[in-house]
Amino acid sequence: MTRPRILILGGTGDGLTLADTLVARADIDVVSSLAGVTEAPRVPAGRVRRGGFGGVAGLTAYLREQAIAAIIDATHPFAATMSANADAAATLVGVPLVHLWRPPWTRAAGDRWIEVASVTDAAAAIPDAAGRVFLATGRSELAAFAARKTIDFLARIVQPVQPAAGEQWPPRLAFVYARGPFSLVEDRRLLIEQNIAVIVSKNSGGAAAYAKIAAARELELPVIMVRRPLPPRGQRVETVAAALAWLEVVLASRMN
Ligand code: NAP
Repeated sequence: MTRPRILILGGTGDGLTLADTLVARADIDVVSSLAGVTEAPRVPAGRVRRGGFGGVAGLTAYLREQAIAAIIDATHPFAATMSANADAAATLVGVPLVHLWRPPWTRAAGDRWIEVASVTDAAAAIPDAAGRVFLATGRSELAAFAARKTIDFLARIVQPVQPAAGEQWPPRLAFVYARGPFSLVEDRRLLIEQNIAVIVSKNSGGAAAYAKIAAARELELPVIMVRRPLPPRGQRVETVAAALAWLEVVLASRMN
C-alpha cells in the first residue's frame, strides 16, 4: 500500500521541526515546500520542493498530481497569500488542511508599542526625529521605507541582497546579517551598540524573534508593531504538537 503523502508548507522554524519529526516515520511520505526566496535557506529534513506553485490553480494541480493526503500550512503568519491559496486549493481537491497559526505576541507591562495595520503604515508612523531605526521586518519589506529619506535605518536580514530591478530602498540604510533565533543577550547588545532608538517589527509571535521585543522593553524603546493580517479561514492550531495531533486524526480516519 502506498504511504500517504503529507505536504508541509514551510519557510519557518516550525516547518523545520515538523519535517524533522515526520521524516522519521515509516508510515508516511513527507515533502516540504519552500517559496525559494532565500538563497541559502535552512533546508528541512527529507524531500523538499522549491518555488511557487502558480497560484490556486497550480497548487490544485500539484495536490492532484502528487496525490497529497494532508497539508500542514506552517508558513509565517504574514504569508497570507500562501495560506489563502492553500485553503482554496485544499477545498477544491478535498484534501485535509490545518494552519499552524502561532498566537501573536501580546503587550506586557513596560512595552511601548505603537500598533499599525501594515508595513506601509509602520513606515509612515516613524517620527521625523526618531533617531536610528531598527528594521526587523525582513528583506522583502525594505522598499516600504524608501520614502523616509532622512531616517537612519539598520535592517537585519539573513544575507546580503541587492534591490530588485526598479525597487527603491531608503538611502540611509545599513545592514546586519544574521539568521534567528536570537537571544535576549544578543538583541540587547545589538540595540545598545547600534544606538537604536525605535524598532519596527511584525507581530510574528513565537519565541525565535521575541528577544528584540523583550530587549526593547528593558531599554524602554518604542516598537512600531505591525498587526497580523486576518487569520486564514480553515482549521487552525497554535503549536507543532497540536499540528501533529491533528495529523494523527487525519491518518487514523484514512484507515477506517
Ligand atoms: P506570501 O506573500 O503568502 O506568498 C507569495 C507567494 O509565494 C505565494 O502565492 C506562493 O506562490 C509563494 N509561496 C509562499 N510560501 C510558499 C511555500 N512555502 N512554498 C511554495 N510557494 C510559496 O508569502 P511571503 O510572505 O512572501 O513568504 C514567503 C515565504 O517566506 C513563506 O514560505 C513564509 O513562510 C516565509 N516567511 C515569511 C515571512 C514574512 O514576514 N512574510 C517571514 C519569515 C518567513 P504561488 O502563488 O506561485 O504558489
